[in-house]
Amino acid sequence: MDISYIINVLGEEQHESIQDVAPPLHQTSNFSYDSVKTMRNAIQNEYDNYLYTRGNNPTLALLRLKLAALEGAEDALLFASGSAAIAAAVLNVVKAGDHIISVQQPYSWTRNLFSLFLAKFGVTVTYIAEFSEQVLNQSLNHNTRLIYLETPNSFTFGVQPIESICTWAKEKGLYVFVDNSYNSPLGQTPIALGADLVMHSATKYICGGSDAVAGVICGNKKLLNSIFKSELMTLGGIISPFNAWMLLKGLRTLPLRLKASSDNAAFIVNHLKDHPKVERFYYPMHPESTDYEIANKQMKYSGGLFSLAINGTLPQVETFCNSLKRFRLAVSWGGYESLAYPACAALSGHSDEQTHNFNIVRFYAGLEDKTVLLADINQALNAIK
Ligand SMILES: *Cc1c(COP(=O)(O)O)cnc(C)c1O
Repeated sequence: MDISYIINVLGEEQHESIQDVAPPLHQTSNFSYDSVKTMRNAIQNEYDNYLYTRGNNPTLALLRLKLAALEGAEDALLFASGSAAIAAAVLNVVKAGDHIISVQQPYSWTRNLFSLFLAKFGVTVTYIAEFSEQVLNQSLNHNTRLIYLETPNSFTFGVQPIESICTWAKEKGLYVFVDNSYNSPLGQTPIALGADLVMHSATKYICGGSDAVAGVICGNKKLLNSIFKSELMTLGGIISPFNAWMLLKGLRTLPLRLKASSDNAAFIVNHLKDHPKVERFYYPMHPESTDYEIANKQMKYSGGLFSLAINGTLPQVETFCNSLKRFRLAVSWGGYESLAYPACAALSGHSDEQTHNFNIVRFYAGLEDKTVLLADINQALNAIK
């Protein structure tokens, strides 16, 4: 696959005399027609025409073309956020009373979608940590409709074997969806492994500037057309042309950013994994990680996210986090800047699972000098008394 061609050329062949070097921004809400006939045609097939920007727009269309090509999908749809994309995809295939098999700890708002929002419609969810055939068979119900993966998953970065899960699911006639935000379309392509839909929080690596919130679903045209007509047009959680344009800009540098951030994270993990104040690390592409074999098989980059379990009490973990200077305490990830997100900042005190993980700090290695980043974590570890 010629990634540079997709990112820099595909869809940008200029028909006009202007020949923009950067993709143009079509900041318009609607489009006009020369005749009733052409207008009628656009209304009847809004998926493939420009009628109204809730549906389609040339700036969105260019981004859809590039993202679909990178994921090896027929098409892509864009949303106001990753969560809007995930909700639209799941709502399309799940009806009242259905059952979902999900990865143990998906992104927090995906878990809310499953456990709170869909529960209102009698949808049940079985969360599993291991995706062996035996566990999958045990979790299967007569009303199971969807296998929901996020690989690696949030915070602890457990890896699920996409290909074997898809083979099993296909025999049973189930959908498999994969949240691929961690890898970006360059690091892992689940559709080639049998997945039906791939979702991204495009806020993260795809945008890459910590400045726009967006989401995407990639997949086959039939399913995407169904989502377009139902969840996208009806619920209307769409991306703005401006944010789509920001993502086009982000895509131009994605290969460089993904590599730099992956290299920085791998360097830091290697230097800190045996530190006495580090109880354990979570970084699937490290050879000492339990998921290394499967991660190495299905992922091309190690990624910029990693977590460290800090050897200490809650106040000591807080001292460590408060001592960080270059890693800024913030949620989200995927931008230029390195960030740290302590699990204890989200502690409600009610969940045993969360309480158990109070000492985990998730890091995102940005694009800064790796030695500066390593020194920052080292000085913060030394600040623990
Ligand atoms: C951030 C994130 C989401 C949600 O995306 P938003 O753009 O914030 O709505 C979903 N999945 C993963 C893995 C994420 O990191």
